[in-house]
Order: sequence, then C-alpha cells, then structure tokens
Amino acid sequence: MVVAVSTERYTRQQRFAGLGSSGQARLTEARVLLVGCGALGGHLAQSFVRCGVGSLVIVDRDVVEETNLPRQVLFDERHAVLRMPKVDAAAETLARIGGGTRVETRAAHLDAELLDELGNGVDVVLDGTDNLETRYLLNDWCVSRAVPWVYGGVVGASGLVLPVRPGVGACLACAFPTPPPAGTLPTCETAGVIQPAVALVAALQAAAALHLLVDPASVPSRLLDIDAWSLRVRELALPRDPQCRTCVQQEYSYLAQERGPRAVSLCGRNTVQVRGAGGRMDLESTARRLQADVRQLVRAAALLRFDVDEVRVTLFVDGRALIEGTSDPARALAVYDRWIGA
Ligand SMILES: [Zn+2]
Repeated sequence: MVVAVSTERYTRQQRFAGLGSSGQARLTEARVLLVGCGALGGHLAQSFVRCGVGSLVIVDRDVVEETNLPRQVLFDERHAVLRMPKVDAAAETLARIGGGTRVETRAAHLDAELLDELGNGVDVVLDGTDNLETRYLLNDWCVSRAVPWVYGGVVGASGLVLPVRPGVGACLACAFPTPPPAGTLPTCETAGVIQPAVALVAALQAAAALHLLVDPASVPSRLLDIDAWSLRVRELALPRDPQCRTCVQQEYSYLAQERGPRAVSLCGRNTVQVRGAGGRMDLESTARRLQADVRQLVRAAALLRFDVDEVRVTLFVDGRALIEGTSDPARALAVYDRWIGA
C-alpha cells in the first residue's frame, strides 16, 4: 500500500536521544529479515513496521489457528477460521498499520538456500522461530556472513534474549555449544506460554535490534534471562568462547546439513517424511512428555506413533518421522517442530 507518510509520524521516537534524526534516517534505509511471525515474530513485525524500518522481509511456514490468538498479535478470529497462511494474515494487519515500511512475505520453511536468497542485503536478522534447529542455522548463516541477529526464545513465563554481533560478541554457540537432545526441551505446546512473557521477550529483542541498526558498537554482549511470572530479568555477561566451533573455528555444520530438504512429500501417499536434527531420540521420555496432549499414543520397540491435529505421526529412533494426513512439507515440519521439538 502506498500512502504518503507524514513527516510528523516518527517525531516522538526521533526525540529519543539514542535514535535522533540520523538514527531515523538509518532506520528508513534498513532492511530487516524476520524469521517466523507467530508469537515473538508478530510483536517484532509490528514493532518494526511502527518504527518505520525501510524493508521488512517475513518468512513463515505455518497457518493461523485458534490457539494462536491469545498471544499472536497480528491475527484475529477471521484469520483462524480461514486458516490463512500466517504471512498473508500478517501482511493484512501490517498494511492497516501503514507507514513507510515495505513488507515482503514468503510462505515457506526456511532452509539455507532460502536464507541466502532472503538474507541478501539485510542489516539485521530477527528470530521469531519456534525451534532450535532453525536458530542454529540462523547463527551459522549470520556469523559466516557477519550479519548481526537477535536470538529470542520463550516458553511458559520465561525466556531468553541474546543480541549477536558476529566477530565482536558471543554467538548462540558460545552461549549453548550443543543443543540439548531432540525432544527433551519443553515446547509451547507441552509447557504452555503466556502472552506477557512473549511481549517482554519480543520487546527486548526489538530494542536490541533497533540499537544494532542505529549504533551497533554500543550494544553489549549480554544474555538476558527473563521470568515474567516472578517479574525478574537477569543479565548474564557473556564473553565469547575462545573455542567456539562456530564463531572461532568457523564450522558451520547447520548450514552444511541444511542443504538437502528436511521434509519430503512421499508421492501419492498424503504423507511427508521429516528428517530429525541428527541425534538419537529418547522415545520413552518423548512418549511421557506427549501422553496428555496427543491421541492414540502407541510406543513400540523402534517407534512412537500418535495422532495430533489432523495428522498421524510415526516417529523413529533416529529422529525421522512420517507425518500422514498432509502432503504439505511446511505443514509437516510445523507439526514436527511443535510436538517433537528440534
Ligand atoms: Zn561463538
């Protein structure tokens, strides 16, 4: 939508000394890539459109569901009834906010190739994802291309935020050298999540990203640990790990492994095969974690099977899963990452 943007519009934020008119001018030129536009991503998208960033590129693979509405601020009941792709619903809401931002959207699962395409020329990358595999991929990509990014995660009432300045401050792999085994972390499906925690984490991510865009040299390398229920924010100084495999040894294993598709539709079977993150699955603990939330749970020697939403999931000990009831790889990946975790 092209509407003349009043010069008045951004005056209040320009009066903030940290930004000023030079900061606003930089923002107007900036290009931001947002990965995921659900809970954290919805708040982040809104934040950057409202502040008048030049271009916002949004990638998301999911559709809007009723259970999103308590915390995903870009969506309403109509979007959920229509099960609209999140990027389309987001574009609609963001267009109503208006302003000078050019919003580009892509309904897709983000892999390394798409990241190369969408990340071309971006000034900062924002993490609005719901899974660790994509976050380590973002870390590999951003560190290898020297693009700053802001990690954010939230589950229950707690969350983490880390601004990453490649080559200067700590990266995600400095903070967490190895991701925990697949399936062992709580997800928003199993442990729940509350909106104020989402808003708090997203606000800190947005502040860090804004700061990275206008004055990167003064952004501290700091991991923020938030608990919205006990009203606590802890800041942990985070030095770079001198042995970090990513930002020191430059081993970009997620970029390498992501070159093949993670999800493949099996021809004529209304089934998608999804590859896991690589590690062996602990099927026993995964079964215990899921049993209250899924239907028809069956635990056999080498597999776990259950029904959830409109699909049947068969998970194997190597992390591979067959998702029956869909032929859409993006839908299958969304189910996998939400229920099994990555
Ligand atoms: Zn590192």
